[in-house]
Amino acid sequence: MRARRALQAGALAVAVVLVLHGFLGPDFAPRNLATLGVWVHMRGLLVLALLAFGNAFCMACPFTLARDWARRLTRPVRRWPRSWRTKAPALGLFVAVLFVYERWGLWSLPAATAGLILLYFAAAVLVDAAFTGAPFCKWVCPLGQFNFAASALSPFEVAVKDPAVCAACSTKDCLRGNAGGRGCELGLFLPRKVGNMDCTFCLDCVAACPAGNAGLALRLPGAELFDGRWRSGVGLPSKRADLGALSALFLFGALLNAFAMTAPASALAERLSEATGLRGATPVLGMLFVLGLAALPAGLLWGTALASRREGTLGGAFLAAAPCLVPLGMGVWGAHYGFHLLTGIGTIVPALQSAAEGLFGAAVLGRPSWGMGGMSPASAQAVGQGLLALGLLGSLGAAWNLGTRAVRAWPWMALCAALWGAASWVLTRPMPMRGVMPI
Ligand code: SF4
Ligand code: SF4
Repeated sequence: MRARRALQAGALAVAVVLVLHGFLGPDFAPRNLATLGVWVHMRGLLVLALLAFGNAFCMACPFTLARDWARRLTRPVRRWPRSWRTKAPALGLFVAVLFVYERWGLWSLPAATAGLILLYFAAAVLVDAAFTGAPFCKWVCPLGQFNFAASALSPFEVAVKDPAVCAACSTKDCLRGNAGGRGCELGLFLPRKVGNMDCTFCLDCVAACPAGNAGLALRLPGAELFDGRWRSGVGLPSKRADLGALSALFLFGALLNAFAMTAPASALAERLSEATGLRGATPVLGMLFVLGLAALPAGLLWGTALASRREGTLGGAFLAAAPCLVPLGMGVWGAHYGFHLLTGIGTIVPALQSAAEGLFGAAVLGRPSWGMGGMSPASAQAVGQGLLALGLLGSLGAAWNLGTRAVRAWPWMALCAALWGAASWVLTRPMPMRGVMPI
């Protein structure tokens, strides 16, 4: 627990620096730690950490540290209402953040980026200071839902070491908590936990288990995507419409986020504007979002569910197969965010030097050299295509394993292959770099 607290304290210190530099530092985004830290470095490192380890961001989350402090004052007793237990609000916020990011170009606005960080702190504190457990992480936080979906592909999970020890355990302290640790606030009972959905890697369960029977375990990345068992704290994935929507949004949100950066997206927006007579950036981008996140996915998923259904409802066919969309989604996020990280990785150094110079009035970290960048765009795109290919392989494997008596695998494999082709085309369009060029 001390190690986690140290991680959180470090993340909190970084957040404070980003917020201060966002408000007080230069307005020029490539020289500001808030815009560089959040939109170039953190997003890329987040995807890398998820693939190499697991839900490292939630483990080090500074927002939960702030809410723990707030709870010393409020001591909440009310539970999150049962009728609110859906990820729909978090998915709505996810779309809202994507929209605001595209519409107002958050990557180029240091003060707005700092404001977003503060808003996040306020939301986490307000929600979790009023309710017991961790409802902000489980039901509200859009970043948390991204991490939960992506960590299906992580090589580690928190699991029991010996199921026989749990079978003889009467206290269930990993869930209920004790003096050693507070137990799982996300409602995951370890012996019946499957995969990483809803797990923040907080390790509270590990601290609470009196038998020392819980810990981080290696597992086959992605295996949980085709494991349809009932899960503690989650239920049956095939009955959770919100989890199906999360899988779909994870892929189509990645595609739209990458597409919106390219010249063909601007051309499409112009055509939409001409065809509908709507003027103004907000309604035109709104149409692009409706097309990319609602109309197109609904049509493609409906058609694929229809072609794949052997028995049951169309919705049932979609929910049974939706997890196969996650690996390709991860490939697109990885290729997109990896591009910005790799091409702009060095930019944080002069920004740090400049911030230190501003703070101390002297060049304590050396003189900033603003020419620093990173990998060439062509090399970064090649790395991205590799990640995309891995994502396609993961989706094809998941779809193959998800094929059951009720659902055929091949329509989902065909859909993933077609979307991979679209993503590959999008990611080879010239992309503006972040942090390196004036933006
Ligand atoms: S993980 Fe520990 S506390 Fe939880 S059921 Fe198993 S032995 Fe009991
Ligand atoms: S299962 Fe353990 S590590 Fe995961 S959220 Fe619950 S307490 Fe934290």
